[in-house]
Amino acid sequence: MCLRRLLQSSQLQRAWRAAFLKHVQGRRPGARRWTHSGGGPYRAVIFDMGGVLLPSPGSVATGPLELLQFDHGQSNPTYYVKLANHQLVLRKKPPGTLLPSAHAVEREFRIMKALANAGVPVPKVLDLCEDSSVIGTPFYLMEYCPGLIYKDPSLPGLEPSQRQAIYTAMNRVLCKIHSVDLKAAGLEDYGKHGDYVARQVQTWIKQYRASETSTIPAMERLIEWLPLHLPRQQRTTVVHGDFRLDNLLFHPETAEVVAVLDWELSTLGDPLADVAYNCLAHYLPSGFPIQPGLSDCDLTELGIPTAEDYFRMYCLHMGIPPTENWNFYVAFSFFRIAAILQGVYKRSLTGQASSATAKQTGKLTEFMSNLAWDFAIKEGFRVFKEMPATKPLTRSLHTWCLLRTPGTRSYVTSTDSSPAYASKEALIFSPEGLPPRVRELYQRLKEFMERHVYPAEPELQRHQTSAERWTPSPLVEDLKEKAKAEGLWNLFLPLETDPEKKYGAGLTNMEYAHLCEVMGTSLYAPEIFNCSAPDTGNMELLVRYGTEEQKARWLIPLLEGKARSCFAMTEPQVASSDATNIESSIREEDGFYVISGHKWWITGILDPRCQLCVFMGKTDPHAPRHQQQSILLVPMDTPGIKIIRPLTVYGLEDAPGGHGEVLFEQVRVPKENMVLGPGRGFEIAQGRLGPGRIHHCMRLIGCSERALALMKARVKSRVAFGKPLVEQGTVLADIALSRVEIEQARLLVLKAAHVMDVAGNKAAALDIAMIKMVAPSMASRVIDRAIQVFGAAGLSSNYPLAQFFTGARALRFADGPDEVHRAAVAKMELKHRS
Ligand SMILES: Cc1cc2nc3c(=O)[nH]c(=O)nc-3n(C[C@H](O)[C@H](O)[C@H](O)COP(=O)(O)OP(=O)(O)OC[C@H]3O[C@@H](n4cnc5c(N)ncnc54)[C@H](O)[C@@H]3O)c2cc1C
Repeated sequence: MCLRRLLQSSQLQRAWRAAFLKHVQGRRPGARRWTHSGGGPYRAVIFDMGGVLLPSPGSVATGPLELLQFDHGQSNPTYYVKLANHQLVLRKKPPGTLLPSAHAVEREFRIMKALANAGVPVPKVLDLCEDSSVIGTPFYLMEYCPGLIYKDPSLPGLEPSQRQAIYTAMNRVLCKIHSVDLKAAGLEDYGKHGDYVARQVQTWIKQYRASETSTIPAMERLIEWLPLHLPRQQRTTVVHGDFRLDNLLFHPETAEVVAVLDWELSTLGDPLADVAYNCLAHYLPSGFPIQPGLSDCDLTELGIPTAEDYFRMYCLHMGIPPTENWNFYVAFSFFRIAAILQGVYKRSLTGQASSATAKQTGKLTEFMSNLAWDFAIKEGFRVFKEMPATKPLTRSLHTWCLLRTPGTRSYVTSTDSSPAYASKEALIFSPEGLPPRVRELYQRLKEFMERHVYPAEPELQRHQTSAERWTPSPLVEDLKEKAKAEGLWNLFLPLETDPEKKYGAGLTNMEYAHLCEVMGTSLYAPEIFNCSAPDTGNMELLVRYGTEEQKARWLIPLLEGKARSCFAMTEPQVASSDATNIESSIREEDGFYVISGHKWWITGILDPRCQLCVFMGKTDPHAPRHQQQSILLVPMDTPGIKIIRPLTVYGLEDAPGGHGEVLFEQVRVPKENMVLGPGRGFEIAQGRLGPGRIHHCMRLIGCSERALALMKARVKSRVAFGKPLVEQGTVLADIALSRVEIEQARLLVLKAAHVMDVAGNKAAALDIAMIKMVAPSMASRVIDRAIQVFGAAGLSSNYPLAQFFTGARALRFADGPDEVHRAAVAKMELKHRS
């Protein structure tokens, strides 16, 4: 008698159904919970049915029935069943209404049976029961295989050679699956032949749409992009569909795969989709909640192949040439995961998901879709590079700064070339190459600077040193209104953060770099165009991570220029260049967060318009190092915020915003003011400081250009020892050096911005660190040379040079000390370039 019949029959069936229904349908009275202490992969839920007669093939046994649900996996509930000495695994569909074609346990049963015969290591399947009346849904039984599952892809505790062997074994078994003869295995009709990826893209778009709960911009972009970039040539093999390390059971002593598990998504299709999917962990961070990754691990040290090496290993085993559109496959794989997670999330909302963590899991959809989009951009870039150049690049290679009329502080960048052609994929290093809309914005911005900003500088400077300096200048407010009316407003928000141009002008980072440089020529300009730090970083943070309520309360007034904000991280008692040192505490109390801490150098906190403090502190000092910090939105009128004093930079106060030293004493903040969630502070700060920090670099180019323009005008008109200063060799050398250094830094700024646009902020990490290392020092040197040729006047407030110098010098700390950027560059250099 087969096991199913036994399970369905007599005493056993009654007892089995009673216990199982209690568990599966959530009716648990009488069920005894048991905590499993052996560290195995199952959750501790057990039903003791002592004294039941139990079947075994060909015999009848007496003993307890144990039922444990495996903790692994989000989809088909899987149970360990012990009948006396017999150990089985039962896998069933989840209850409730299911998405079309999902959870097909019948197909799992079929493929495993066929693959076992073809020599692929899979658990031996015993029987399939399609009758839902037995335990509520169809299910099947298979033999229990003992073995090890490695949940962490970094394989902690193993030697590098063991890790290498495990990855090789995984690669081999994948090759084995992809080499199964479909005809001989009777699997020719297991799926459609050809166009697998195209069909998959449509399937997952449909699945995603069926479980969509809100609009995710990256998903929308991918839904348009993927069908346009499908791979042309595809082989058809068995594909597992969820092939990853933790779906493999390894021999406890050797690096041998004893069973490949979880065939729910298997079909016939393009095997490269399996390989790319198998490498996803390589692109996820080690602390990633649902699946630990490897992106921040030193793979060479661990002995684990990189994703690219792993792919090459696969090609070598299979005897195929490596494909060029690898990034497409990775983008598609992340998209598919995002769609799956969205399904899990939706089911968690309707109470159907099989895992307790499903709700949290589903929220990662957005993260996964952003990763997918990063790879789509990389793939787009590769395709673009392969396209034949259609038009010659006729842009000038030189940028000159001129003082049009001596005595006025105007600065222009001009080229002597004919109009240039631009492509959105090209690195545009001169404003003439910008697309027409942006070039027109650039022109208007420059005209505004000439008409309104430079002429206002003397008055704005006077205000900054007057008794009313801690009150915002009415002239600034007036100029803000004018800039807003001319559409020169919120230009900073990158297209990639705000793809629907809901909040900003929709410029790419590179386009903005040209405009931001112009703003950098005047210390007062960024605020006038609502593009000044720290508001820009805070606004981007709110766009990226804020809830709708947080956006309504804080983002909108900031975007309108009605409010200002500050970012409070640095603390006097700890080395704050290492943000993990931050000590201020954030603890939960009566439904509130209560913060205590001492901060300093908080730019903008003294401004009476400052309504929001973005506060970084520790919620859990015992969590892993990068998960201790959280970010809270603190209204500035909350009791307990005490500004001790304004700090000065070389004696300058930078009123009205200033840089404050502040005490936070038992400051109570509603819980909904937490950004993203406890422990996410470090992650958010990285996101906030990445693009925002290079805005400083963009501005420093403008500031250096203006210093050089002033220097050139000065040396032509100033005579010493019988000739103009410009005829002195040292002065000529200083001018030449300054021009060269500005050009070098500008190219690096533009390159960093460009890489951020085409490959994402993460891929641009090296370029971002390099420019942060270069720009402030370069500007300090150029401005210092200008000060030198001005004589003592250069240090006075007659010219903007002294303030420029102070600003550039401070930025060698304010954006993180030079040494930290140098260390980051060196680390990446050593890691990635042999
Ligand atoms: C004008 C200005 C505005 C600022 N605005 C803000 C703000 O709005 N909000 C805010 O939170 N903070 C702000 N800061 C603070 C700024 O972010 C910190 O000063 C900076 O992060 C460095 O921290 P620290 O001063 O504690 O220096 P520390 O961390 O004590 O570092 C001191 C020095 O140690 C050396 N050092 C550190 N790490 C390394 C390394 N890895 N290798 C070699 N040497 C190293 C460097 O020489 C460094 O300068 C501002 C600072 C200035 C000057």
